[in-house]
Amino acid sequence: MAIITSNPQPLCALCGSAGNVVQTGISDPDGNLDGTWGFQRCANPECGVCWLDPAPPPDELWKAYATYHTHTRKSGNRAARAALSLVHRLIRLGLLPLWICNGLKREADYLRFMTLANEPTGTLLDVGCGGGRLLNRMKKHGWRVEGTDFDAQATQKVTARYGIKTHVGDLARCGLPANSFDAITMSQAIEHLYDPAATLRECLRILKPGGLLVMTTPNVDSLGANGFGAFWRGWEAPRHLHLFSVGSLRRLTQRAGFEVIEARTYSAGAAVVYRVSRTLQRAKNLSWLDQLGLLLWGYRKESQEYRAQALQPNTGQNILLRARKPLN
Ligand SMILES: [Zn+2]
Repeated sequence: MAIITSNPQPLCALCGSAGNVVQTGISDPDGNLDGTWGFQRCANPECGVCWLDPAPPPDELWKAYATYHTHTRKSGNRAARAALSLVHRLIRLGLLPLWICNGLKREADYLRFMTLANEPTGTLLDVGCGGGRLLNRMKKHGWRVEGTDFDAQATQKVTARYGIKTHVGDLARCGLPANSFDAITMSQAIEHLYDPAATLRECLRILKPGGLLVMTTPNVDSLGANGFGAFWRGWEAPRHLHLFSVGSLRRLTQRAGFEVIEARTYSAGAAVVYRVSRTLQRAKNLSWLDQLGLLLWGYRKESQEYRAQALQPNTGQNILLRARKPLN
């Protein structure tokens, strides 16, 4: 296992207030880094964001990404994995409509284009573009797209594979022109930032007046976070540096100068988080039959979580926030 330095973070980096511990004992879910981490929630009611404590310093953070999303626990033989993958695909296609309800399908469709499917197309920037799949989808849909990411290898691939212009590094240092984008998307990205407030202010600067910002991020107040404790996959320590509730993300976005149009949680896609969290909790090698059981269980939980929203709003796995840059 690799070692990464982690320094105590007693105060909220966004407002300077003290916090309360919400979770301790979180291991690297990929199993590559030695140590455990925790999260605190800012006690300032005007803020309320959660932050990683202790946290790696910026010059060591690359270690946390050295094997990010490339290491997966694999057990069983190839045939078993193929069978699991087939079941997965059948469920996604709706051919095994076990627990799929229309509401979840609507959510998934709404998020496929980051809620922009019916907006007039224009210029779009995806912050934290990763492998560029969303950018390519938006490009095919008629948007003129650009992407940014901290990972230079990823941005080079996006440019080579899709012919899309990319920028490397912190958005504030990309030097993009003011008032130049009709929309900015940040899909599962803001939680990776040391200073999400600075990035939001930069988004405001480079958006055209009336331009849209659409973000998704894990919900620290989700049923999954409450139920799994340290095993919740959404903690993603030490790569997630800040986590939000609907309220704290709304306040942060408003403080940056945006008008928030929509802020709520959703459950589409939560099945995988349930499945992986449960796998981490069990901490043993699972037979392919166990894995099949967990796959189906994950979809059932996703559906249950979706329905629970009627009585417990804002407890879905992920947050969706849409905001607009004021016209003047
Ligand atoms: Zn704070």
